[in-house]
Amino acid sequence: MKVVDLSKAQDVGSSCMLLEIGSFKILVDAGLHPKKVGADAVPNFSLIKPHSLDYIILTHCHLDHLGALPLAFRKQKDAKILTSVPSMTLAPRMLRNSYQVMLRQKKEENIEEYPLYTRMDINDVEKALMSMPYGVTKTFDKFGDKLKITFYSSGHIPGAAGCLIEYKHRKIFITGDVLFEDQLTLPGAQFPEGPFDTIIMETTRGATPRNDEKTRSSEIDRLIKVINHTLERNGSCLIPAFALGRMQEILSVLHAAKAAGKLRSCPIFCSGLGLDLVDYFENIAKKTGLIHFRKRIITQLKVKSLRLDVRPGEDMQEKGIYLLSSGMLIENTPSYLMAAALINHHHNSICFVGYCDPETPGGIIQNAMQEEEFLFKTLDYVSKVRAVVEKFDLTGHAERDELMDFVVKGNPRAVVLTHGDPPAREWFMNSIAQNLPEVKVINPIPELEIFV
Ligand SMILES: [Zn+2]
Ligand SMILES: [Zn+2]
Repeated sequence: MKVVDLSKAQDVGSSCMLLEIGSFKILVDAGLHPKKVGADAVPNFSLIKPHSLDYIILTHCHLDHLGALPLAFRKQKDAKILTSVPSMTLAPRMLRNSYQVMLRQKKEENIEEYPLYTRMDINDVEKALMSMPYGVTKTFDKFGDKLKITFYSSGHIPGAAGCLIEYKHRKIFITGDVLFEDQLTLPGAQFPEGPFDTIIMETTRGATPRNDEKTRSSEIDRLIKVINHTLERNGSCLIPAFALGRMQEILSVLHAAKAAGKLRSCPIFCSGLGLDLVDYFENIAKKTGLIHFRKRIITQLKVKSLRLDVRPGEDMQEKGIYLLSSGMLIENTPSYLMAAALINHHHNSICFVGYCDPETPGGIIQNAMQEEEFLFKTLDYVSKVRAVVEKFDLTGHAERDELMDFVVKGNPRAVVLTHGDPPAREWFMNSIAQNLPEVKVINPIPELEIFV
């Protein structure tokens, strides 16, 4: 098998990998880098020969996996895009939102090349989507050469999938973004046991040691406590969260806490896309039974959509919970603007519930000391960090030890590392070398051909 990592750096950036297996050419994901803008955020598609792809596997609909798909597809119109049943409806919705955001960025930030694709491109992608129900194997034939593909639920977010590719005697398993633990809205990953020839594995949490004192439920209790304390001192609580998956999970967490009488009564504000996706989640829940989500929790929690007329340093009049995207406080997103309003006031709090790249505003604020200054670059506003900043271990990514267990059970000949910062990948390299010295570990150098 030939592998080329088309993302431009070894980080949790724009997921995109080209696989050549026998006569088949398969692209796995085509993401946009969340920290970069314009053409820099796009994987190196020039390394794919036009009209050469047979299949594009879309593991899930976060933009670091999906965001550049219309661009990749432009020159690959004959390829089928394989994705899970929930992602069939989520992908076009997320792309249309991304298109709108790029239109806005073009105007506000003068990014010339935005939008990177047109509405027509998105329509073309939508037409090429082919559903892959979890656990159902489909056989593909190319002039007599045969390849089998099976999708498996990977936890993480609704629609997320790991993917088994079988070619002759070889079994290649791609984890995608994976969470083995159950969430309120979604059961944990249900992966096959192997043995595999090759595992292509995400490594997001490779640099995060397991902390046995922190369980998901103890972290939820701690989150509710911090929110209650914030409200008691008449402050507001900002929870930055990805609009797809994390936001609906946190709404379910708040709903359960409220139902159990643990959460103080307060207004809850959500940003637009996260609330819109609630309808999609309800439909997916009703049609597939794959997720646990009912839209009525929104009315029961009295969630309001947020009108964003906030100013840096000016505290919010209406105290409450602000559950806003993006999760990493990326510049000019609702959570970034809200952080600029709240951060200067001791009675407020900012509660991170997911992974933050250390170089994003979210990552920097997480690691800042109280009274340290933070520059909101695009607002030209400097503030001291005075709000309570807390980090909760409620991420949508598997513990590194769980992934190691998966590798041990899968007993592969080779492991290809993806989707992790350099220290995270290094931990897996060392850990596999120590515990499974016979396994070949590959940390692909971007844009280079590797033979596995
Ligand atoms: Zn993801
Ligand atoms: Zn990802």
